[in-house]
Amino acid sequence: MKRWNGWGDDKNDLDFKLSESAQGFLEGLIGKSTALPDATLDQVMVKVPESRLPEHELVTLDAEERIRHSRGHSLPDWLALRSGDFGVFPDGVAYPESSEQVQTLLQYAQDHDVDVIPYGGGTSVVGHINPEADGRPVLTIDMTRMNTLMELNVESQIATFGAGTVGPDVESQLKAKGYTLGHYPQSWELSTIGGWVASRSSGQQSMRYGRIEQMFAGGRIETLDGTLDIPTIPASSAGPDVREMFMGTEGRMGIITEVKVRVTPLAEKEAFHVVFFPTWEIAVKAVREIVQNKVQLSMMRLSNQVETFTQLKLAGNEQVIAVLEKLLEFRGAGGEKTMFTFGVTGSKAQCKSALKIAMQIAKKYDGVGTGSLLGKRWEHSRFRSPYLRHGLWDAGFAVDTMETAVDWDRVPETVASIEKAISGALSEEKERVHVFTHLSHMYGQGSSIYTSYIYRCGSTYEETYARWEKTKAAGAEAIVNSGGTISHQHGVGKDHAKYLLAEKGPLGIKAIQGLVDTFDPKHQMNPGKLLPEE
Ligand SMILES: Cc1cc2nc3c(=O)[nH]c(=O)nc-3n(C[C@H](O)[C@H](O)[C@H](O)COP(=O)(O)OP(=O)(O)OC[C@H]3O[C@@H](n4cnc5c(N)ncnc54)[C@H](O)[C@@H]3O)c2cc1C
Repeated sequence: MKRWNGWGDDKNDLDFKLSESAQGFLEGLIGKSTALPDATLDQVMVKVPESRLPEHELVTLDAEERIRHSRGHSLPDWLALRSGDFGVFPDGVAYPESSEQVQTLLQYAQDHDVDVIPYGGGTSVVGHINPEADGRPVLTIDMTRMNTLMELNVESQIATFGAGTVGPDVESQLKAKGYTLGHYPQSWELSTIGGWVASRSSGQQSMRYGRIEQMFAGGRIETLDGTLDIPTIPASSAGPDVREMFMGTEGRMGIITEVKVRVTPLAEKEAFHVVFFPTWEIAVKAVREIVQNKVQLSMMRLSNQVETFTQLKLAGNEQVIAVLEKLLEFRGAGGEKTMFTFGVTGSKAQCKSALKIAMQIAKKYDGVGTGSLLGKRWEHSRFRSPYLRHGLWDAGFAVDTMETAVDWDRVPETVASIEKAISGALSEEKERVHVFTHLSHMYGQGSSIYTSYIYRCGSTYEETYARWEKTKAAGAEAIVNSGGTISHQHGVGKDHAKYLLAEKGPLGIKAIQGLVDTFDPKHQMNPGKLLPEE
């Protein structure tokens, strides 16, 4: 079973305990810290109020189910889960097994004036699935029992899935038939295909397979106003695209029950490689050249100098890292080095050619290849960093991320301004924040920017939350002021809603609001999310 107050499964032991040296490294940067006390599940159980929902055979009012569906995985969610201070709980949870059952539940919500929260894997990091205290009872509809590959059209390479299918089940069911979707967000273990569409997700290998927008071909959506079937059409010039209209709606316009996606035959070969560049400035030029020359890589990630040394320090295995550092220094990628990780996927010939061209460009910019060891290491731990939050928490540190995308001409200054804003956000209280960034999901036009930061927990939960509020606001304002999107891949939810106006403009917000009103005039579907205060 999923952990009720953290990442992953109760049974696995993937928590990254910080090694002594990693802890010492962080303490050297931002100071020693002390862990806050965790609440137990029993302590939270007694806080769950009586449900306000009328009984229904598809709805459970069980207190533990309601706890398990109250929060996602943002840092404020983590603080709520760990302190036991949840605020609002949903009044009930339903696990439909068909589109017809979703229709029944939506009718029940209309009949009894109930708010509805569609719930996929609950991996939101922006407050998407948290219930609001708006006076109405709240029903969370968990889609994870709709989890099968319903159809595979081999000729057109279209697969139809139940919207609650989680990443590993998407891939295992396709693999059995020789296909892949290739959508690998870092939350892949727990997030669902319906959640990916509803929040416009992007996976690590988007360079080969595309973002979810390119994969989503159509499907079925149950709304308060009836069923919408979106047909699969390869391309169309017949007016605005209804398929596009539903992506990123974050549960505000209906519940996606069936998702049709474009799939690809399994690749013959896949490998990941790591190159170090002597400086960030040089590295940015190199990766831009690679992507603008349309070299067929499947993933690219360029860590800045601070992320590079942070990753090497937190990785453990000090002896191997020491040898690597010496080698890199000898070959000209010393103190300011930045790490570039990339993947090749496809036929053997395609991989060989892509690797050759990428390395030619890298060498032109003094890139130093490191063989296959570090690439294999990245592949092995590609879904593990979410567990790092556990190890950091136990040492008294909080970690969060901010992400955006901008055109290439604004990448360097945007990175600098986000990092500066977050690292100075707690300076009034003389707290240091450790900030580092990578570029991933690179496009011909520009790149996504993904900044992580670590700070010391305060002496109370309230103080820790107040520190998050300051760092988050500083980072978000830097993004908006740089003309970046408030989210390249995490969506809007609650935490980003107030920043949406800067990106869409008043008329854009009015248009989105109009769409929401069409499908949900009484604002029962996931109210309080996506749009600024209504
Ligand atoms: C550690 C970690 C790493 C992450 N890495 C990435 C990443 O690499 N790339 C990325 O894109 N995101 C990432 N995320 C964010 C998150 O995983 C994505 O937003 C994901 O798409 C959410 O999917 P989910 O199934 O968990 O949806 P949920 O969190 O359950 O819901 C998200 C939103 O979608 C709506 N929704 C869910 N299912 C449906 C449905 N069937 N019909 C209608 N609405 C629905 C919900 O109402 C909510 O508004 C990460 C999150 C974590 C915690």
